[in-house]
Order: sequence, then structure tokens, then C-alpha cells
Amino acid sequence: MYAEVIIDIAAAEVDRIFDYDCGGFDIKRGVRVSVPFGRTKAEGFVIGVKEDTSVPIEKIKRISSVLDKSPIITEEMFALMDYMRTSMHLLRVDILRLFIPAAMRGGRVKELVRQLAVLSEEYRDRDPDEFIRKGAIAQRELYDYLSIDKPDGEYVVELNKILSASALRNFAERGIVRIVDAEKRRVPYADMPVEEESRHITPTEEQQRACDAINGASGQTFLIHGVTGSGKTEVYMRCIEHVLGIGKTAVMLVPEISLTPQMLRNFRSRFGDNVAVLHSGLGQGEKFDEWRKCLTGEAKVVLGARSAIFAPLKNVGIIIIDEEHDQSYVSERNPRYVTRKIAEWRKHYNNANLVLGSATPSMETYYEAKQGKIALLELTGRVNGRPLPEVRIVNMCKEVLRGNRTIFSDELTRELRSCLSSGNQAMLFLNRRGYASYVMCRMCGYVAKCERCDVSLVYHREEDRLKCHYCGNMYAPLTECPVCGSKFIKEGYIGTEKVADKLREMFPSATVLRMDNDSTRTKGAHARILGEFGAKKADILVGTQMIAKGHDFPDVTLVGILDADMSLHVADYRSVERTFQLTTQVAGRAGRANRPGKVILQTYTPNHYVYNYVRSGDYKGFYEKEINLREVTKYPPFSKIVRVLVSGTDDEKASGVLKNIYERVKAVKDAQPDKFIYLAYMRAPVKKIMDEYRMQILARLVPDSDDVEDLIYTATDECRTAGITSYAETNPIKLS
Ligand code: ADP
Ligand code: ZN
Ligand code: ZN
Repeated sequence: MYAEVIIDIAAAEVDRIFDYDCGGFDIKRGVRVSVPFGRTKAEGFVIGVKEDTSVPIEKIKRISSVLDKSPIITEEMFALMDYMRTSMHLLRVDILRLFIPAAMRGGRVKELVRQLAVLSEEYRDRDPDEFIRKGAIAQRELYDYLSIDKPDGEYVVELNKILSASALRNFAERGIVRIVDAEKRRVPYADMPVEEESRHITPTEEQQRACDAINGASGQTFLIHGVTGSGKTEVYMRCIEHVLGIGKTAVMLVPEISLTPQMLRNFRSRFGDNVAVLHSGLGQGEKFDEWRKCLTGEAKVVLGARSAIFAPLKNVGIIIIDEEHDQSYVSERNPRYVTRKIAEWRKHYNNANLVLGSATPSMETYYEAKQGKIALLELTGRVNGRPLPEVRIVNMCKEVLRGNRTIFSDELTRELRSCLSSGNQAMLFLNRRGYASYVMCRMCGYVAKCERCDVSLVYHREEDRLKCHYCGNMYAPLTECPVCGSKFIKEGYIGTEKVADKLREMFPSATVLRMDNDSTRTKGAHARILGEFGAKKADILVGTQMIAKGHDFPDVTLVGILDADMSLHVADYRSVERTFQLTTQVAGRAGRANRPGKVILQTYTPNHYVYNYVRSGDYKGFYEKEINLREVTKYPPFSKIVRVLVSGTDDEKASGVLKNIYERVKAVKDAQPDKFIYLAYMRAPVKKIMDEYRMQILARLVPDSDDVEDLIYTATDECRTAGITSYAETNPIKLS
């Protein structure tokens, strides 16, 4: 027998299958094996087993060992691999790596095997007086414990903690107890208190209608458009209950940063041990065990971030993507994929339902709903009729004219004071981390830039360093200008770190917490900050977009958006949409319980149409306005943007590759000119990152142009050159 193996090596440039002799091992498709490869050994995935091989027999090597007892890649995942390979132009090895926990490779993590003590069958229903001496109290206790409390057995380490070890040894010797090896699961957040009982919530009429529609369908895609606080999670949980009831499983995806302990608690209290959780904050062992629970069927529900879409659950009945507009659902690193596409595929494979939920759906998704391609369900009110918060737009130009040079308008300062004095909490949002966004010489205009990247450096006070946000390099802070020697150094826009400092100055008795990429770098920091704020150990939470999502803090009555325009001035067709989404999400954190909420939105462009819609909470109005603009300017969903990015340390070589690809794309355009709205090549907006020069081809295609899109991807594949990174992406999240 011969096995077809995909070798798991890092620099796989080619998508090659190698044949190996099974050498007496019972090899199944889907297991991993260790094989000789070149002069070394390598791990590989067995993707097929066959009787014959076309490779000359003297060239065939034998498999050295088998790494898995049973397949770890399911048949569904193999089919998905084929789909991703052809439609997304990915290599098999890169796809297979997505399907398993990273630490499994190289054997860095394994099942935790522990000794389990089980009462032997023949002693189960006997009268213990027949074989336990009177007065052997420890033995009697052990027998009762195992026969009554732990009929399925208990781990020896656990038993030894509470009962007599010598009694256990005695039982084992006499065969009353059998000691077997068993997998023991590491459970993330095991010590987290579970709410005694799932609260019994009576669904609102709108919630019920949404549940009925979804539960009555199969193989369909739905969009739940529900304002913030409308109880979307309750709908998701009821739909999951329904699929579990008919013996199927469920995948629930949330953006990484909204997968909070609070969310997990809700799911655990509703679904108990049926839930597996998968996200980047878990330890390797925990992640592996949660993933195994999905594979073995112990878990029926997986709750996780983007990569949980690949969880090896069988017989999926529903896939839910919460906050579907969130950018974290697009993988921007190789292997690049769009979660929605994978979800659509798994939906189709399993005849499951796909539910997308958001208060601010992406233009593309809402457009699909309006076109009738997916079903639209609406939750128009907050539960219990709580009002949406009042949004006040503050013109910061007027503040400057009045002589207020700080980042806090008078109105925000006033509101903060009254919020704090009445014992409520506030959240302040600023999408800029660090202390000052750039440092500049006032005399000659010199701006401190990273040596390896084409970006300005950000000052971080905690470390007293200038930091590059692209490569992480750090530099000494500037005391004088390296060009002209002037000591007049100006700091640019304020970041979260400085805001927190200022707040501590202004409100010395208030406790201020900060949440951004810098303050959440350690494991568990994210949950700890949210936990402390939720437990009211702090009065103000300052943060970047991390604080925008999903959090439900009942005592937050004030939300301040310090510089709403930040995302507006990004040169990207989605900048207005993102500003609307971000400000609406942040605003939605205010007034979620019985106290009314207020939002202070500070802007230098108060007359921009987007703020009108944010103030009135009018998604549909915003959608109509924005979709018209997109149609007129021919941006997605009325076109498709395909970008090919080429980068490398050798500028000339990279340019050569770019031109080669461009020539081929140009030929496609000459053959089918009406498929192209625009085609050009140029340097990328950020010209250099980590010493690599970056350049791009930008194509804008008419919507119905899948074939042309595929040709651009193929051209990119064919021009791939060692030492140069090149890839194509469609409607990329970032055009920088
Ligand atoms: P969304 O995700 O739409 O922003 P959530 O699902 O977080 O809203 O719900 C907001 C709050 O309302 C939660 O605390 C939830 O427990 C509660 N809730 C949801 N549905 C109901 C209901 N039918 N009756 C009472 N409370 C509800
Ligand atoms: Zn200078
Ligand atoms: Zn850098």
C-alpha cells in the first residue's frame, strides 16, 4: 500500500504530493506521519492511500512512524481543502495547517494522558461486605465513592487528593479496581463561576419571529439586522438549542476581542460541557483539547474567533457570524481567506443555516439582503424598550477658537464630572494607541521615521521610546532634531496612553483603565481589564476599537468618542462606512440597562453626513445614501477590487515581478476590455515595511467577472519568484 503525503515544511513553494510505502503500518487518510525527506525527517499529512504508485519502486521511501491513532482531518475538511485550493489559490499544506492547532505540528502538544481508576465490572453490583473487611473504613469509602459518585471512573490524582491512596492500591492489586490510561481534558477558564441556572428569558416578539424563521429553514443564509442591545445573542442561543435538539452541531463566531468571559459564561450556562472555546488567548494545551473535543464529538457547540470556522465538528446545523461586518473575519496573512466564504461552503456541504448578525451590516451584505439573495430579519428595538442613547455632536473647531487646546471638549468634561459624581461609569474611545502619534521638529519639519518602514514613529511614554507600529522596532526619544539640532520638538495627535494620563490629572479620585494593543499583550490581560471594569473597580475605561465591540456593562451611562474623524480621512472607499460602524458600535455601549445613556461625539467636521445618521441611529438612511454613492462611483458591491501586492528587499527584482504580472493582466484586459473599470500599477501607499519595498497592481472589475479575477490570481501564481512575496486579494481590508 502507498500513502499520498503532503510534506509539512515551512517554505513549501510547490503544492506537491509525495508517495510513500506504508511499510506495514495501517495508514488511514487523514492521519499525520513521520517520513524521511531529503536528508532529514519531516511530518506529513496523508491525503490518500492507494494500491499502486507510478513512482519507480527504487525511489519510494517508507513511512517511519504514524503520528495519529485515528484521522485528524475529516472528509468534510478534505473537500473544503479542494475548494480552497481551486477558488482561493492556496497551497494544500497551508490549508491543512489551518485545520489543526499549530502546536500539534512537531509534536509540541499532545493529549494529556492520566491514569483513571474504574470499578471492575464484576464488583459493581455485589455486596461490599463480602470483600471489604468490617472496620476497613477507608476501603469502604473508596468503594462507595466509585460505585455511587463516579460510575465512569475517576483520575487517580484526584482520588488521592480526597481518599486513601493505600486503599486504592489494595483494590488495584485485588482487581476490584482497574487502572487505565485515559485522555484528560485541560479546560480553559475551568474555575470561572457558571451562573447557577440559565436565566429564563421570554423572547420578544421580534426575537421569536427571527428564531422561527431560522429554525424553520435549512441551507439558507440570513442577516439579522438588530440595533445594539436588541438581544441578538439570545436569538443565536435559541437557534443553537434547536439544532442540538435535532442532533446537529453549531459554530458560533465572534470577533476575537468580543469573545469575553461574559460571553463564554452565557454559553456555558446554557450549553454546559457541550461548548468548546477556541481563540488565541488559550494555552496550547487548552486549545488542543478544545479542538479534540470538537473532533471526537464531545463538544457540540464551538464558540470562537475567525479560525473556529475550521473546527472539525461533524454534522453542522448552524453557523453564526456575529458582528459580521468586522474586519477580523478576513485573514490578511497567508493563507488569506474570507470567513464568510468558508462559512457559505460549510453551510452548503452540511445543508445548514448561516446566520450573519450585526447592528451595522457591511454595505455588501445588506445589499445582498435588499436584492433578495439572503433573508433579512430585523430587531428594531432594544429589549425592554430601552431607548438608544442620545448622541451629541460636538464641534471641536469651536473649542479651539474658544482657546480650549485639550482633547476634551467642555461638554465632555462636564458630562464626565456628572457621570462620575453620580457613581456611574464612562468609556472613552480613541483609535490611536501610544502617547503621541508622531514627533516633528518645529524648525525644519523633520518627522521621526522608522529606518525599516516608510511610516512615522509613535511616542510611548511607559517605555519612553519611539515605536514603529508596523515592525515593532523601538528608538530613543528625540530631545533634539537630528537634522537641524533644534530643541523645539512638537508632538502630534494624542493617543490612548496620554488620554489616560490626562484623565488621572483631571479626576484624581477616579480610577482609569486603559485597553489597547499595548496594555493587552500578556495572556489574560484583556479579560482582566474587562473583568475589573465590569466589577466596577474602575470608573473610566479608555481604549481603542477593542472597547467598541459586544461588551455589556450596565453601569456605563457615558461614552466619549474623542476623535471621530480618524477613520474618516483614510483614503479608502470604505472610510465612511467604517466611521459609521465604529461610532455606532461605541455609542451602543452606553445606557444598556435601566439608566439612560449619553454619547459625546467630538469631530472637526460636524456637518459630514455620516454624523447625522449616527446621531439618529438611522442605519437604513445611511445605507441608502452610501449605496447610491457606491453605485455612482462604481465601488463594491458595484465592482470588485483586485489588488496584487509584490514586496521584497531587492527593489529591482520585485519591480520585475510586478511588471511580469502586469503584462499578463494587461493582456487579459486587452482581450476583455469591458470587464475592467480601471487597471494600473504603482508603489503601495506604504512604500516599505521591514526593509521590504512594496508595490501593487490595482484592478477594478465589473461585478460579474469571476473568470477575470481568477486569471489575475493565476498570473500572480505563475510569476512567483524566490525571495519575492507576491499575492492577490479581492476587496482587501487595507489598501495601505
Ligand atoms: P446585542 O447583541 O443585540 O447588542 P445582547 O444580546 O447583548 O444584545 O442583549 C442585551 C441584553 O439584553 C443582555 O443582557 C441580554 O441578556 C438581555 N436580553 C436579551 N433578550 C432579552 C429578553 N427577551 N428579555 C429580557 N432581556 C433580554
Ligand atoms: Zn529640525
Ligand atoms: Zn518599522
